[in-house]
Amino acid sequence: MTESRFRLPARRRSLVLPADVAGRTFRVAFFDADRTLRNSKSGRPSPRGSSDMVILKKSFARLKELSEAGYLLAIVSNQAGIDLGYITHAEVEEAFQAMLKSFAEKGILFSYYDYAELYDEDRKPEPGMAWRLERQLQLAGCKINWAESFMVGDAAWKRGSDLKPDGTPGEDHSNSDRRFAENIALKHPGFGFFHPDDYFRRKAAAGHTRSGEPAHE
Ligand SMILES: [Mg+2]
Repeated sequence: MTESRFRLPARRRSLVLPADVAGRTFRVAFFDADRTLRNSKSGRPSPRGSSDMVILKKSFARLKELSEAGYLLAIVSNQAGIDLGYITHAEVEEAFQAMLKSFAEKGILFSYYDYAELYDEDRKPEPGMAWRLERQLQLAGCKINWAESFMVGDAAWKRGSDLKPDGTPGEDHSNSDRRFAENIALKHPGFGFFHPDDYFRRKAAAGHTRSGEPAHE
């Protein structure tokens, strides 16, 4: 096996940071994985291994922009299928590694990924995965600028229970990504949330505000 020429997290919860970052404050862009950054070829909720994984090209321009703007890119994913026996830990890891490598080949470097296989404090909408990344950054002498950080995920407005911000009925399978962001915002006001349909739809040239929000509607 050839070694990647990019420095990427070797496994989940490995944090890759540039050298000499102590004292630095990072803006973090959190992303959900399935149906936000990637799909499965098989149609399963999550890709089973690298051969089942396809990354969503529509995300490239915005991710590259964030990367170049110095955001720390992190992935937080619910993978209850592991505990339920639908998918193995090894298949999940392999699909994550393949995804990180595919993005890296496009110049987009994720620094961190985590996933929750249990129904516990890590499972979105609970914010446990965000706090774990924060602790890891603290160990490296770094902080998160929460008010300028945000989450992007396709589980936003749940069908049958939520109304979208424009008042129309929700169409998503879950609302765990939006509620994850809201739970973080309870502690850190200003932390944002975007649906990938909105976040990736706009042209990169439109640019970001300092908060990472789309520059215009
Ligand atoms: Mg998803």
